[in-house]
Amino acid sequence: MGLIIMHKISKVYDNGRQRIKAVSDLSLTIKPGEFTVLAGPSGSGKSTVLNLMGGLDLPTEGSISVAGYRIEQASSRTLSDFRLESIGFIFQSFNLLPVLTAAENAEYVLLLQGVDKAERKKRVDELFYELGMDGLQKRMPCDLSGGQQQRVAIIRALASKPELILADEPTASLDSKTSESLLKLMSRLNETSGTTFVFSSHDPRVIDHAKRRIMLEDGCLKSDSKECI
Ligand code: ADP
Ligand code: MG
Repeated sequence: MGLIIMHKISKVYDNGRQRIKAVSDLSLTIKPGEFTVLAGPSGSGKSTVLNLMGGLDLPTEGSISVAGYRIEQASSRTLSDFRLESIGFIFQSFNLLPVLTAAENAEYVLLLQGVDKAERKKRVDELFYELGMDGLQKRMPCDLSGGQQQRVAIIRALASKPELILADEPTASLDSKTSESLLKLMSRLNETSGTTFVFSSHDPRVIDHAKRRIMLEDGCLKSDSKECI
């Protein structure tokens, strides 16, 4: 059974003046518990595929089912429930709320899910510690470096313990030591709690850590190692 089933997906961006085909006829299945990288050069369609998997964007053609939700048929209300309950997102651009502290940003999803205050603090503090961010909980995002902001975004995604984590170039703004500790943390979560990870990267050192490597080129599937769990 697939956690993510994409069938003949195409995505065309059309701004009225030009049409850009970002993904072409892509079919793939990701099983629960996989640790998969989407690799490929800039412009190959990695972010588009992750956005489709997370229900942040809809395909132009084809069908996509994630955690039992039929994305292209779902209402926007259903999609927002799906994102809140099933998915942790790590965006390239962090998407932190500037008026909240680092810890408040990190526990934001837990707050929306109704997790109580003591449990929120426990989970978030543990992750701040694991990612070398202990002591920075009260900082505002503007007083953190790019790499530190990225780690807050990572903590926010991990704290809610979703079944699926989608991460768009999660190590792009991290130094090599922090990248390594993030990858180790991701792979430990994958092994101990069965969390499924799909992340994108064009860094060979990061790609090497994945158990399954899906290579994209010009929006098409170029190769798939299919070495699943
Ligand atoms: P990657 O993440 O691998 O760099 P993207 O998914 O961002 O690739 O982009 C794939 C293609 O789609 C590129 O040609 C890019 O310019 C185009 N594209 C991405 N997002 C948009 C958008 N919102 N509007 C128009 N074109 C887009
Ligand atoms: Mg991208």
